Amino acid sequence: MDLIYLDNNATTPLLPAVWEAMQPYFLDCAGNPASSHGVGRQARRALEDARERIAQLLDARPEEVFFTSGATEANNLAIFGLAGDTAGHLVTSAVEHPSVAEPILQLVSRGFTHRQLPVTGTGAVVFEADFFQPETRLVAVMLANHETGALAPIAKLAQEVSGRAPFHCDAAAAAGKVAVSFRELNVTSLTISAHKFHGPKGIGALFIKERAKLRPLLWGGHQQHGKRPGTEPVPLAVGMATALELAVRNMETNRCGVLELRELFLGRLRALAAPVVLNGPDQDGVPHTINLSFPGCAADVLLMNLDLAGIACSTGSACSSGSLLPSPVLRAMNVPKDVLHSALRFSLSPLLSTSLVEQSAQRIARIVNRLRQERLGNGQGLSGSI
Ligand code: PMP
Repeated sequence: MDLIYLDNNATTPLLPAVWEAMQPYFLDCAGNPASSHGVGRQARRALEDARERIAQLLDARPEEVFFTSGATEANNLAIFGLAGDTAGHLVTSAVEHPSVAEPILQLVSRGFTHRQLPVTGTGAVVFEADFFQPETRLVAVMLANHETGALAPIAKLAQEVSGRAPFHCDAAAAAGKVAVSFRELNVTSLTISAHKFHGPKGIGALFIKERAKLRPLLWGGHQQHGKRPGTEPVPLAVGMATALELAVRNMETNRCGVLELRELFLGRLRALAAPVVLNGPDQDGVPHTINLSFPGCAADVLLMNLDLAGIACSTGSACSSGSLLPSPVLRAMNVPKDVLHSALRFSLSPLLSTSLVEQSAQRIARIVNRLRQERLGNGQGLSGSI
């Protein structure tokens, strides 16, 4: 039985071309980029070349790119680094990733106040005209949601703030899938993570506008202008640049391919496993993300059965899996109880084939129908609480 991986928002497999680009910097040119000898200078050149390529691909300047260990660190650095020490008011959307939501809670426990922009039933962030107040110290809204694929109007929100407070944008679920221009979004800082676009795990970047005042999280080195000290992982930086290059170069082809897979997946499940409910935008989100509810099935039981049938998907963000609470993103969308408790996130990649997607829909439908039959056998209807 083929294993079918439908959890590409949790992480993506590394592309062979990315591995090939990284290998020499693990094996041959393994210098420390801070060393002043020849081997060090060679590593430094590779690092700065990676920084320049990443900057160019996302329409930023190399001086604005700071390598981190991933999106979690980049988000923490932006939030703690930009909010400052004196308590003030914070604004986020109601559907941020835990690596934004939890630093915000930390700040609230230190005396900051917090307002959440609500979302619609399909996860679109609602633009509230008065969201920015004179006492607002920091705004953080993600570009693409990790559970629904919904895209937020970042440029419009940032224009409203217009430099009066720092604006952070988590673009980890968007970069490599939709066009991202740091310049045009006009935000203070922006997060990306390589393993979300077929790059290596363990590296991400925070883009920071040159004039922004950012207090570091880590101390004890001069690397990256002291804003993120520590020896830079040269092979990972080279891998991230290569993966981003491939993702940006093939973006349109990949998007069309994934759209086709999405239509096939949704069409087959609607035909074979009705009722299914799509949680999130149908047309104008990131097409890779498909959040679906199967009323009458309990999400955790379904997930386990799908795993046994060789299908990997998730009940939400990998960072919150293990939690028995239903998805905060779907709760913010105010979906009905049976939809909330029967939701799974399937996330596609251009590496999948139509045949695998067809097979996955058939396996999912078989299991959904069996679980619903068992439930009916137990005398419980399809609606009603799970
Ligand atoms: N933000 C978003 C939107 C994400 O999807 C993720 C990954 N689940 C993260 C942040 C955290 O990324 P990382 O694994 O690189 O720390």
